[in-house]
Amino acid sequence: MTKPESFITNGIRIDGRKPEEIRPITIEVGVLDRADGSCYIEHGLNKVLAAVYGPREVHPRHMQKPTTAIVRFRYNMASFSVEERKRPGPDRRSVEVSKVSREALEPVIFTEYFPKSSIDVFVEVLQADAGTRTVGINAASVALADAGIPMRGLVSACAVGKVDGELVLDLMKEEDNYGEADMPLAMTQTGEITLLQMDGNLTPEEFEKAIEMAQEGCKRIYEIQRNALIERYKRDIETEEEPLETPEEEPVEVETVVENEAEEETSEEVESE
Ligand code: UDP
Repeated sequence: MTKPESFITNGIRIDGRKPEEIRPITIEVGVLDRADGSCYIEHGLNKVLAAVYGPREVHPRHMQKPTTAIVRFRYNMASFSVEERKRPGPDRRSVEVSKVSREALEPVIFTEYFPKSSIDVFVEVLQADAGTRTVGINAASVALADAGIPMRGLVSACAVGKVDGELVLDLMKEEDNYGEADMPLAMTQTGEITLLQMDGNLTPEEFEKAIEMAQEGCKRIYEIQRNALIERYKRDIETEEEPLETPEEEPVEVETVVENEAEEETSEEVESE
């Protein structure tokens, strides 16, 4: 990957977006049979899978908390997810991303409902193209909802950065690698910020504007997360409703069977007599 000569030409970024536009996002809910909740997100060229287990018994036991559940979050980048093969296993960066992602989600989870239990979140980055921590948080939030974990609401995350001296929403790889700043933010659906980090430099005015842009991005992402969940459970409700409608169409048959049985009983009684 080489540094582009300019990141913005006539108000348009190298991937055709306007500065305040997010990348296309598709979300699929409930993609893994063996997890309690799961979600697959394609966000631009990022491909991220999240799985949630729990609430379940804590192992090792000494990690149990007597009055609340513990939330554990493991972010992992697959070796093949990046341009230059990544050494498998945890590293300094993945430990940091796991920690801040857990802290971004924990405030919305009713952990007090599940003392001595754990809620385990796994995020696997299959393809990375910048902003994977924010995509991981978005996927994990939906997977937690899919697992039926009681929550105050969803968490949505989005990054803002600076390229060619201009603020841009939701950085893609080139903008992330060669840009002047990168500021991921996560917020609850009621607007509380649960993650705020920054690489690079912004002036106080730029910082204010960047927060507003990131919040706008989060609101748009929240709508996509919400719609994906509605879509998933609408399907379930529709298929559940079908068998309820069928018996109403055939009440006559039920009566016929009862009558026939009654007749049979009478004739049997007559015969035995
Ligand atoms: N990256 C990489 N190898 C690594 C980690 C990251 O090549 O082990 C690259 C990858 O291209 C990624 C970018 O660094 O897109 C920045 O990481 P990313 O934006 O995904 O994470 P975040 O910005 O959320 O920290």
